[in-house]
Amino acid sequence: PTTPSIPALQQTYAETVPELSVPHQAEAPPSPQLTWLNEELAAELGYDPEWLRGPEGLALLTGQVPDTTAQVYAGHQFGQPNPQLGDGRAVLLGDIVAPDGRHFDLHLKGAGRTPFARAGDGKAPLGPMLREAVIGESLHALGILTTRALAVVSTGERIRPRQGITPEPGAMLIRVASSHLRVGTFEYAAWHLGPDVLRPLADHAIDRHHPAAGDAENPYLELLRCVAEAQARLVAQWMLVGFVHGVMNTDNMTISGQGIDYGPCAFLDEHRARAVFSSIDQQGRYAYGNQPGIALWNLSRFAETLLPVIAPDEPEAGIEAATAVLQGYEPAYLDAWTRGMAAKLGVPESPGPGAAAGTSTDAASDADAASDSAGVQLAAVRALGEDLLALLEAQAVDHTRFFRALTGGTARELFADPAPFEQWDRRRVGLGGSSPRDDVNPVYIPRNVHLDAALRGAHLGDLSGVEEMMEAVRSPFHARAHLEHLAGPGEGGDVFLIYCGT
Ligand code: AMP
Ligand code: MG
Ligand code: MG
Repeated sequence: PTTPSIPALQQTYAETVPELSVPHQAEAPPSPQLTWLNEELAAELGYDPEWLRGPEGLALLTGQVPDTTAQVYAGHQFGQPNPQLGDGRAVLLGDIVAPDGRHFDLHLKGAGRTPFARAGDGKAPLGPMLREAVIGESLHALGILTTRALAVVSTGERIRPRQGITPEPGAMLIRVASSHLRVGTFEYAAWHLGPDVLRPLADHAIDRHHPAAGDAENPYLELLRCVAEAQARLVAQWMLVGFVHGVMNTDNMTISGQGIDYGPCAFLDEHRARAVFSSIDQQGRYAYGNQPGIALWNLSRFAETLLPVIAPDEPEAGIEAATAVLQGYEPAYLDAWTRGMAAKLGVPESPGPGAAAGTSTDAASDADAASDSAGVQLAAVRALGEDLLALLEAQAVDHTRFFRALTGGTARELFADPAPFEQWDRRRVGLGGSSPRDDVNPVYIPRNVHLDAALRGAHLGDLSGVEEMMEAVRSPFHARAHLEHLAGPGEGGDVFLIYCGT
């Protein structure tokens, strides 16, 4: 029999910035069982799913491979600096190059205490690991950059419960990320190590995620711009689908622009700007409507870490240049949000041909007029979208159902008082609005109530609910009769999520 080719694990991170991790081996679980394998992702990475199911695959998926490390980082948690965080219960297995040339980290969560563990036991319960896997698949299928789970392995251990008295089954999650470079990684380097580590760290980030920045006049300033743009796009997409990350600490914000670390996160049911689902977010810092501003706050912390390499000899000039770059965040966010909203509403991003041309006689002023009228159209779409969200909130309308009903032509039925909606919809039609494409507004998101029920089933040994949820969210735009019960908010309303580490 031929041996399938398996991507070679490398230790690029540990070799490039040895100051930012320590050697660490995952604890071997007593009785590992593959609970869920992401065959689609396995194939993308170049792993044969059958190999992963075998003994060598299980060794990889439980971290029983050489040269693994725990990464150190710092961060701002709920606005407060914490000088040392790090992989408290996770291990970086290494990085691989997929058959299509893309680079990925393999990271194992729930592998026991590391030197960076603080209060926790280093272990992870099955429910939250399946939750992270479901959220990652959902966001990915919605076209949003995200880390994904390659597998969830139950360990055979029963671990200390974080709520109630029933011990929970232990599990590990193998996370695939384009890297684990975080704003918090740069904070650690800036606070404790200085330019001799910051520079190779930033060069590594440029190499891996934003290679074009390497050719810029000031590559580190350009890195800041690229990260700000990537985060602007990411958060705009979260806002459009009604996603609340829940713990946007700087250690949970990547340099790649992928979303990461899905703990007490949730999708909105009713549209509410102040929606908070996490038990530890008592001030609502990370509420749905705060996310775009929080991302900019985090990017400002990132910018501060880069100042010593952006302009080593002219701190004032560095601050000025970085500030100018950060001022680009809001327009980038609004542009991504408005274009996404246009698609969700079935409104064109620029008015039809004809609309712009007309009075002028030369080509240059025609082009000016076209770009002006595109600007006018986008401004009108933005106002239309913002007014809609206020209307959804005023009448407690479900975010996801509204947009899908717009696709199906039944949105009016969702309003107790339809008059304001009808008036709003006339404006939409006036901007050229028609039925949105049906691959823009999802039918299925992992709604709290249903996901919670599925995870309770898994806790008791029945995975069918999780499998059904996966089936729904991995093909979110395609309504299926047997999954109908997952399409609506159901009974029970908002679930408050107990934080147990993300
Ligand atoms: P998070 O809330 O997941 O972003 O985690 C913040 C920090 O807490 C990281 O350093 C984690 O590794 C650590 N942490 C979270 N849960 C645990 C746990 N059960 N055991 C050890 N460390 C943990
Ligand atoms: Mg984290
Ligand atoms: Mg975490």
